[in-house]
Amino acid sequence: MSATAKRPKESTPDEVKAEVLRVARAIHAAGLVVGTAGNVSSRMPDPDLVCMTPSSMPYDTMTVDDLVVVTFDGEQLEGNGKPTTEKALHLECYKRYPEVGGVIHSHAPYASMFALVHQPIPALIEEVVIYLGGDVPICEYTTTGTDALGVEVASKLGDRSAALVANHGIVCVGKSVDDALHASLVTERTAMIVWGARQLGSPVAIPDKVNTDFGNVYTFVREQMWQA
Ligand SMILES: [Zn+2]
Repeated sequence: MSATAKRPKESTPDEVKAEVLRVARAIHAAGLVVGTAGNVSSRMPDPDLVCMTPSSMPYDTMTVDDLVVVTFDGEQLEGNGKPTTEKALHLECYKRYPEVGGVIHSHAPYASMFALVHQPIPALIEEVVIYLGGDVPICEYTTTGTDALGVEVASKLGDRSAALVANHGIVCVGKSVDDALHASLVTERTAMIVWGARQLGSPVAIPDKVNTDFGNVYTFVREQMWQA
């Protein structure tokens, strides 16, 4: 998690929208999505409202006026665009976890390879335990765009910042949308390194005690420092 990332409540509504647009362009630039795929959201300074990217709109021409603001019931209050088709997934993460301030769904290629074979990404790198909470779990297969997908994915994010969406991609959460971007990049980088390490030999697990201690760091930071 980046030290400078502010909680949404510490920002103005316009600053939150600018962050969402910047991070949406960043996931495209980083190769985590192609075309109009993926979606990005942030809690607004009002913690019961969410700002999210619109459906089917190119990232390079998207403006802050295209971003939509919705209630937890899905009612659209602002924005020229239509809410992302994965609206339910984003809203479920915010409803279930008050500490979550940002959510990103992407199709990061190496992480998606793990999602295709329904294998968790093992937390074999120390920083992964600190930043993501441990192994990146795989969700049960659920059809894209449904409320059921939101419930299934969110259920995996109680003690993790990332989850694999079976046969689809990844979802990451954070204190802010910037933190969710960092979690997305850490997840993809870990998947790439683990994939490569398996070509070289059998990766060696981190000692259990270190894993537990670092997992406690993640829990402490999430409980004490994320709170909206
Ligand atoms: Zn998708």
